[in-house]
Amino acid sequence: MSESDLRPDRGARVSVRITRVGHGQTLYILSLSDHYQGLFTHWKDPHSVYCPDDGTCYWRKCQEEQIWKGYTPVLFWNTSTANWLPTVLEISEKLELDLRGKWKRGQEWVLTRAQELDRKKKPVRGRLAVVQRPSENLPEEFDILPVLSAVFRVAHVKLGKQNPLPMPQTMLPFESAAPKALRPDDQAPASPEVLQKLRETLVGGFKLPNDPKNGRKP
Ligand SMILES: [Zn+2]
Repeated sequence: MSESDLRPDRGARVSVRITRVGHGQTLYILSLSDHYQGLFTHWKDPHSVYCPDDGTCYWRKCQEEQIWKGYTPVLFWNTSTANWLPTVLEISEKLELDLRGKWKRGQEWVLTRAQELDRKKKPVRGRLAVVQRPSENLPEEFDILPVLSAVFRVAHVKLGKQNPLPMPQTMLPFESAAPKALRPDDQAPASPEVLQKLRETLVGGFKLPNDPKNGRKP
């Protein structure tokens, strides 16, 4: 009896595809490579087409309309079969900013994408959940080129393009007084006691129309 005969159905071989995180989805992944690699695409509704980015691209506004995408071999947790399945993760320009400088083989990441409730596309966000899983018997990284060639229907897909998005600049907030326009008297709001005193002063100083002091006769 061979080893494959002993495997349950859920251990059957699976074809490797590209996985994207859809709106409202969460994906748990395990990285198999120390790297991800990128290429340029163009959006030709309803799917992306490969851009060779070498002067031979047929796209009319090639340079202005390039969309970067990254790819890397990973395992994703399949809840229905309760095991890790191989797939090629597609990394968007925004998601790459979360992975940049951190991505290594053997890491566990949680990728999430908010629901699209207001017709605005929501970006995929990545959070590093486990910096380094015990390497145990983590499968070897596999070649992603055959999968990309099949998806883009191009015999020779070239990788190695960098995400053009720069890292967002981050700075600390400045702790100081609120804008002058929001505090006209430059004072703290009056306490209830102060307000009461103010009311008494106003009532006491109010002159009635028939008050003799007004110089009028009743
Ligand atoms: Zn192009």
